[in-house]
Amino acid sequence: MNSRRKFIGKIAGASALLSSTTSVKASVDLLTQPVLPSLEGRKILFTYGGWDGHEPKKFRDYMTPWLKEEGAEVLLFDNLDCYTDESLMKEIDLVIQIFTMSEITREQEKGLLTAVKENGTGMAGWHGGMGDAFRVNTEYQYMVGGQWVAHPGGNIDYKVSISSNDDPITRGLSDFEMTSEQYYMHIDPNCNVLATTRFNGEHDPWINGCTMPVIWKKSYGKGRIFYTSLGHNLAHVIDQPSGMTIIKRGIQWASASKYLPMESWVTPKY
Ligand SMILES: [Zn+2]
Repeated sequence: MNSRRKFIGKIAGASALLSSTTSVKASVDLLTQPVLPSLEGRKILFTYGGWDGHEPKKFRDYMTPWLKEEGAEVLLFDNLDCYTDESLMKEIDLVIQIFTMSEITREQEKGLLTAVKENGTGMAGWHGGMGDAFRVNTEYQYMVGGQWVAHPGGNIDYKVSISSNDDPITRGLSDFEMTSEQYYMHIDPNCNVLATTRFNGEHDPWINGCTMPVIWKKSYGKGRIFYTSLGHNLAHVIDQPSGMTIIKRGIQWASASKYLPMESWVTPKY
């Protein structure tokens, strides 16, 4: 079922609830809460490559059928030259990128950043494919809103705490446990943080008790940016279904910058 049909279904369900005097408040909430935009008709550029340990091809093969089922047109590139194609980039609604480390040329970076900042193309990604790409490109990091710097202990058990259930990306989700890399990142304070994790100091005692964003959304110029540090590999975010739910919802949200009003915030929200 696509999101539009889901929305209509929700409205129908809410209308039915409205006839029940005991459920009026719940129904009104359902009608007034923002819903995630549909991917129907969206043009999505999916770039994959970089360090193979983050499984760019596996993610490509998992995400592409879902994006198409949701009605999106998906353009796949295993390199970054597409970012320099000005006419292509003008048409793109959303860039999904998994390109850990690697290098990006000035022309490629300019093409990507211009599309987001000036045209309103959204960008969505996860883990190192977006949050540890192009380490020397600070303007790229300014767009992303964070940069990976460490994952103490490697794959460990940690908890993800949902900061807000008001946002459609995290609505209905509870706190959950992960066994994966707990990313320690340098963070832009103007990210709208939707979930955090707390470091326990077992591996690096001086960060004991540190609260670190795990999911955020932000703006860069006209474009919506979604990021989560979850997703070291595909199995980690499928074994913990909330992980993949968050990635999919983030993609939906970020795809709509050209069609929906800007959201704004200027202070840390965690
Ligand atoms: Zn990783």
